[in-house]
Amino acid sequence: MNYNKADFIASYGISSQLPESDRPELSFSGRSNVGKSSLINKLCSRKNLARVSSTPGKTATINFYSVDDCYFVDLPGYGYAKVSNADRERWDDLINSYFEAPRHHTLLVQLLDCRHAPSADDEQMLRYLHYHQIPYVVALTKADKLKKSQLAKTLEDFENLCRPYGCQKVVLTSGENGYGIPELQAVLNAAVAG
Ligand code: GDP
Repeated sequence: MNYNKADFIASYGISSQLPESDRPELSFSGRSNVGKSSLINKLCSRKNLARVSSTPGKTATINFYSVDDCYFVDLPGYGYAKVSNADRERWDDLINSYFEAPRHHTLLVQLLDCRHAPSADDEQMLRYLHYHQIPYVVALTKADKLKKSQLAKTLEDFENLCRPYGCQKVVLTSGENGYGIPELQAVLNAAVAG
C-alpha cells in the first residue's frame, strides 16, 4: 500500500452519513490521548493528516481518510472522564452502527498505551471486538517511553493479556520516533491483500 497517497475525507458525527463502503477499511480505536492521531500520521509520514491534540474529549466523530485504495477509519476516542451520558450514548450509537453496517471491515487496530495496564474501558472494547468477531490487532503506543530492556517483556505481557480476547497480533509502536511502524504497515498490507 502506498501510505504517502493519503487524504482526509471528512468527519462524521452520524453514521448514516458515512461514505459508501466501496473498499477495504482499516479502522483505529483507542482511548482519548492513547496516541491514535500520532500513529495515523506516522503511518502515512505526515505531520497533520490526523489532528494531534493534548486536550482529549472533543466531540465524538468518525474520521475517514483515503489511503491509497483503502479507507483509514479513525474511530472516536473513549474513556474521557468528563463526557456526559448523552455523549457516551452518542459514542455507543456511532460505534455500534459503524460495526453493524455491512461494510468492508478488513482489520481494526486497537491502540493500548504500552506503559499501562488496559483500563476498564479498554477491556470492554477488547470484549466487544471479541464478541462481535471483528478481526483486530493491538498496537501498543508510546514504545519510545520504554527502556530497551523492557520491550520484550512488555510485548509478551500484552500478548498474553490480549490473546484470550481474540487478538491476532500485538505490535509495539511509537508515533514519536517511528518504532514498529514498518511492522504495523506490513500487518495492514497483509490484511488488505487478504
Ligand atoms: P489521540 O487522542 O489518541 O489521537 O492521541 P494523540 O496522537 O493526539 O496524542 C496524545 C498525546 O500523546 C500528545 O501529547 C502526543 O504528543 C503524545 N504521543 C502520541 N504518541 C506518542 C508516542 O508514540 N510517544 C510519545 N512519547 N508521546 C506520544
